[in-house]
Amino acid sequence: MPAFWSEPDWDEHERVEVVHDRASGLTAIIALHSTHLGPAAGGTRFWHYDDPAKAMRDALRLSRGMSYKNAMAGLPIGGGKAVVLLDKDGTKTEAMLHAFGDAVEALGGRYVTAEDVGASEADMVAIHTRTQHVCGLPAEDGEAGGDPGPFTAMGIYLGIKAAVAHKLGKSTMQDVHVAVQGCGSVGGGVARLLANDGAKLTLSDIDQNRAAELASELGGDSLAAADVMSVACDVFSPNALGAILDDESIARLDCAIVAGGANNQLARPHHGQQLHDRGILYAPDYVINAGGIINVSYEYLCRREGKPCDLDAVNERIGQIPGRLREIWNESHASGRPSNEVADAMAQRLIGR
Ligand code: NAD
Repeated sequence: MPAFWSEPDWDEHERVEVVHDRASGLTAIIALHSTHLGPAAGGTRFWHYDDPAKAMRDALRLSRGMSYKNAMAGLPIGGGKAVVLLDKDGTKTEAMLHAFGDAVEALGGRYVTAEDVGASEADMVAIHTRTQHVCGLPAEDGEAGGDPGPFTAMGIYLGIKAAVAHKLGKSTMQDVHVAVQGCGSVGGGVARLLANDGAKLTLSDIDQNRAAELASELGGDSLAAADVMSVACDVFSPNALGAILDDESIARLDCAIVAGGANNQLARPHHGQQLHDRGILYAPDYVINAGGIINVSYEYLCRREGKPCDLDAVNERIGQIPGRLREIWNESHASGRPSNEVADAMAQRLIGR
């Protein structure tokens, strides 16, 4: 069997395209995991890979993740992802963005792209000169689109409140202690929303000044990035890196709930079982962090139908994240299976697998 199909992240992807444009120097992989629910949507990552096999792995793994995320958010879209392989210096030119736009256009709407790591709104505007199948474009005030961070933060905030009600039986966040890892676009937004509700905050960031400044603005504490995963708290909210939940860190956790926006928090799927065994309620990352994709997918779907897209529909859909989480936790409780496994099984059913 060729190496490609024996990749651990190969999951019967519907289509995987390797694109090379000699004139601009663009090399990209576009992976469409599933179009069962609609066009495969997911961002484009611009990254230098020391080995192209890693780029293929990212495209396969991340596009499957988008299928699950979009399905669990109840969106009429499938899952896809693209990676653009940059040189060591990270060179990204207008000509490459145009060639990438041509490649997206050639897929005839089966794939819809957006920002991911290494991409900006300006890049999406450049790609949009060649294809309609882009979201994450600059938005007018009060309309869907633009920076997904605040929408992602809102979904996480609502998910944390649902977890606190479910696990701790508390209907308010007053004095609930939340330790936040990462104070960027998402983590900073979550911290602000929680502070407004009277939560007790402990903030950390690899940039210690950023955490300290936000803590003094919001009235919480800050601590060194290395210590946040062992702080005694009600909720640990990871909003920085992936793969942070492993054997060693799970043993150190001193919290009742893990709920945050970082993608791919579990180092391996069995770490969901370890959280479950320790009695820690886990909010599957791709369910709780769907606010951003909800926002940009509404932007795309409204534009495609030629109608304005106000934020009410976006906020209503983000407001359904807690309900989906409760569904997962209830099934997890009833079946004794960890919440990550329950979520994966639900997502697979939704995409017809
Ligand atoms: P960001 O770059 O704005 O913020 C990340 C923050 O984490 C930065 O302040 C950085 O200094 C800090 N950080 C990095 N390493 C750290 C460490 N080891 N310990 C503590 N802090 C550390 O990024 P973001 O947009 O806020 O995204 C955060 C996470 O959420 C990422 O995993 C991202 O994939 C995920 N996510 C983001 C969105 C979105 O809408 N932006 C949507 C879904 C998922």
